[in-house]
Parts: sequence; C-alpha cells; structure tokens
Amino acid sequence: MSDYYELLGVGRDASAEEIKRAYRKLAREYHPDVNPDPSTQDKFKLISTAYEVLSDPQKRQTYDLGGDPYSQFGGGNFGFGDIMDAFFGGGASSRGPRARSRAGQDALIRVEVDLSEACFGTTRELSVETAVSCTKCEGTGCANGSAPKTCEICRGRGETQQVTRSFIGQVMTSRPCANCQGYGSVITDPCAECAGDGRVRSRRNLSVKIPAGVETGNRIQMSGQGEVGPGGGPAGDLYIEIIERPHETLAREGYNLHIAIAIPMTSAALGGKVSIETLDGPKDVSIKAGLQSGSTVTLKDLGITKLRGGGRGDLIVHVEVTIPTKLNKEQEELLRSLATARGDTGESAQIHKIGERNSDGGLFGRFRDAFNR
Ligand SMILES: [Zn+2]
Ligand SMILES: [Zn+2]
Repeated sequence: MSDYYELLGVGRDASAEEIKRAYRKLAREYHPDVNPDPSTQDKFKLISTAYEVLSDPQKRQTYDLGGDPYSQFGGGNFGFGDIMDAFFGGGASSRGPRARSRAGQDALIRVEVDLSEACFGTTRELSVETAVSCTKCEGTGCANGSAPKTCEICRGRGETQQVTRSFIGQVMTSRPCANCQGYGSVITDPCAECAGDGRVRSRRNLSVKIPAGVETGNRIQMSGQGEVGPGGGPAGDLYIEIIERPHETLAREGYNLHIAIAIPMTSAALGGKVSIETLDGPKDVSIKAGLQSGSTVTLKDLGITKLRGGGRGDLIVHVEVTIPTKLNKEQEELLRSLATARGDTGESAQIHKIGERNSDGGLFGRFRDAFNR
C-alpha cells in the first residue's frame, strides 16, 4: 500500500487545510479532464484515495495507527465523484466532450470462509464475471478498423448550447449533445461483437489467496481485476469481501476464541484432564482440583492467527460444573459419607457479604463484579 502522506507530499503532522491544498494542487495536474493521458488516471485515483482517507479525521486516525483500509473503510466508497464535485463543481459532464475511453468500475464479490480458513488462511478458486476489453475491435467499439466521426450537431464539442429568456434576462445553458451523448464523435460503424461499447462480459477463473487472520468485512484488493472501462479504458479493482461462517462450538472475539464445556462436579473437585476439539485438533484442558463453576482456563496460542503478524490469540475455555440430578442408592450413600466426613451440614452454608470474594474467586467474585458494575 502506498503511503498516503507521501502521495500528497505532506508531512504526517499536516493540518486539514494543508492536506486540502496539496490535493487541490495535485488534482489540477492529474484530473482526467485536465490530463486525459490514461496513465495519469491511476495516479489520480491513488491521490484521491489518499485524500479521502486523510481528509476524514476518523479514517486518518485509523490510518495513522496502522489500520487496514480494506476492513476499516468498508462500505463501498469506491468512487471519488464526491471529491471531484467538491472541487470542480459538477465534474466531467460540463467540460467539453467526454472521453470515450474511461476507467472501469471496481467490482466486489463476497467469499464465505469457515473459522479454520479464517485462522490459517486459504486459497480460493473463484469464477468472476466482469466486463473485459472486446478482442474483436480492441476496445475501440468501431468495426473493421474504422474510427469515430466528428459529430455534425455539436461539431465535436460534445455539448450544445441553448439560449432561453427568463426574468433575469437571456440565460445560456449548455447540455451534453444528444446526438453523440457528449462524446463529440459518433461511431458510424459499430463493432458487432460489443455494439460499440468496446467491452464484453466474460467469465474467468481467478485464484485468490486469503491471508490468515481475516474476519467478516475484510476486503482483499486485486488491482486491475475489476470491470474494464468503456472504450478500452483501464480496469477497476476487484474486491473480495470476507464473510466468516460461524463455528459450531468455537466463538470468535477478535483473535481470541471461546468455548464452553461442562464437567461433572467430581471432576471439578478432584481435577484432571478433559480433551476438547480445537482448530489444531484435540487438545487437553487441565482442570485443577477444586475448579469452580464459571471459571476459565486459557489455552495459549490456540486462537486465531493475527492478520498482521504477532502470533495467535488464545482459546479461552469456560467451564461449567454440573451437579448430578439423579443419584442411585449407592451414590447417594457415598455422597452422604463424604458430607459427613467433611462436616457439611445444612447449617454450613456461608452467607456472603456484598462485595466479598470467596477464596476461590469463583462465582461470588463474578457476582460481586456484576453488582458493582
Ligand atoms: Zn468490439
Ligand atoms: Zn454531438
């Protein structure tokens, strides 16, 4: 990704006014209306993206913190028409003939991944349909090597003027020429393949590398893989938007994963090991003797791979201790003997004061936390 500050030629501490001034200066130089050279259109697009980010305090802050524009700036703000309008008061339409060759649109497709693919990354074969350049006319839209002819109505100006009388006097309005749709020229012998548009729809297969650590809403940008523009204009970009399918047992929270398990009270009292299925296969959870219901056990580095490096999140195991609801005679006897041996009677219940944490930091600790919130 290009450095937005560098693109605009301003320092990282530039004020909003400086950024605006820098963009305005560059836009005068690179705007497609001013500079129709197709190679500058990409440059203009980059500058406009940089301006879009740096002129918005929130986006700028995210960018300064090393944020990911694909995930943060999602929502499809692909065009920069708004910016153009802000500076050029209406943009291309009222400025002479419009170019037949224009930059193509960006395209967006959504791809579903499961949790394991989001964690470890994957490669997807996608079938993509976009506009591609017409091979028959090489994007010109004209048949048999012919060329567009200058429009006879507007004489190539692309607009016609009309004088109307109003209460403030004569008003001259100009509008795009209806005969040539503002192009200033007419294709008299259109290509049969593309009907003069210079492009056709086509389906192709594309291999997309989905990096480890993605989540719903992330977008992967594939430069120049979007829609080809009319008249052989450069292609837009293709964005692959990630949708993560929920997992049956593992819940994601950022880069951490959560799982809930239930163990019998005897296991909780005596301790031991429980095997659970993780993204890395079966793993043991150590239950220490005397574990309280509602406690968590953290399995380090078994969470999601971090998108920009730095290892993995954790897997947090939430343990619920279950009390048997049915006891047979023998089990009941055993429990009674245990109760007697421990001196547990109905009177042994301990009443907690609000804010008092029991020695294990278990349920009462959480109860207190909930109370003090
Ligand atoms: Zn064609
Ligand atoms: Zn015309």
